[in-house]
Amino acid sequence: MEIRRDPVTQSWVVSGQRERPEEGETGCPFDPPAIENAKVILSWPSEGPWQVRVLPHPEPLYRVEIDPGRAAEGIYDKMGPLGAHEVVVETPQHDKRFSTFSDEEIDYVLSVWGSRIADLKKDARFKYVTVFKNQGPRAGQEWSHAHSQVTATIFVPRRIKYELASAHDWFKDKERCVFCDIVRQEEKQGKRIVDVQGDYYALCPYASRVPFEIWILHRRHNHLFEQPRPGANRRQLAALVGRVLRRLEKIATSFHLVVHTAPNTRNKKGELSGYWKTLSEDYHWHIEIMPILEKRSKSYSIKEVYFNSLLPEQAAEQLRSVDPNT
Ligand SMILES: [Zn+2]
Ligand SMILES: [Zn+2]
Ligand SMILES: [Zn+2]
Repeated sequence: MEIRRDPVTQSWVVSGQRERPEEGETGCPFDPPAIENAKVILSWPSEGPWQVRVLPHPEPLYRVEIDPGRAAEGIYDKMGPLGAHEVVVETPQHDKRFSTFSDEEIDYVLSVWGSRIADLKKDARFKYVTVFKNQGPRAGQEWSHAHSQVTATIFVPRRIKYELASAHDWFKDKERCVFCDIVRQEEKQGKRIVDVQGDYYALCPYASRVPFEIWILHRRHNHLFEQPRPGANRRQLAALVGRVLRRLEKIATSFHLVVHTAPNTRNKKGELSGYWKTLSEDYHWHIEIMPILEKRSKSYSIKEVYFNSLLPEQAAEQLRSVDPNT
């Protein structure tokens, strides 16, 4: 396994074979007895029966004990897959879907995500920590047991780099955070809002890439998901995430969910130095949900010019009309 950089687009590509036993062959790795023998990175709550558990990914894309081995191959750059790859087992119950969790249970998962991000960021080698959830066969879900994944990488994923660069430009120009501006305008217009809970907003972004794309943001500025603002009520975020997914699942059961937070600023070298002096002012954490309605939607991300057949105003209206309580 190695990571190669495309010099034209600056995308990093993890390349190589990845072999994994099918779930059917070995049983669910997150049920007893397998889970009892697994190495536990974090268990929540810390005492009593566990609700959420973090384990090393059984077939990781990135590994902690590896020499990054940055090397050139002629004009190209490549490196070893140094990083971390963990699985967050979101419930001990095999058949329980994330969207049917109670607010409290979702809150547990959110705090585990935050605590893994904060912990992995202590390692200055890691430039970025990603938390994501692939649910449903079309989203490349790896196990049917409710789970999410955490990766720490020694590079910043390109989409995040783009976001950071444009948020930075916006701030330079207007001295305001682009995400705060988005929430303020959406709040005023209302037509792309899907749901609101306290200070948390769920909306279909103005230039949605796919039908029913949803972003979840806090209306108060904060660049770090893993470090809630004083007074922020994460139980409200949990309630909103649950309701939004219950709405969405009536329309699309497969989706990618990804937490976008600021990169690790502990890394003093290279791309993170100087450039992001205003990071805490210009970046703003958020959650992106990309539903997959059709098989061919894959091609959207390849072309990177998106064709979306549904206006986000109509998507938000449809999502609003769904009953999130059933
Ligand atoms: Zn299971
Ligand atoms: Zn902001
Ligand atoms: Zn984002």
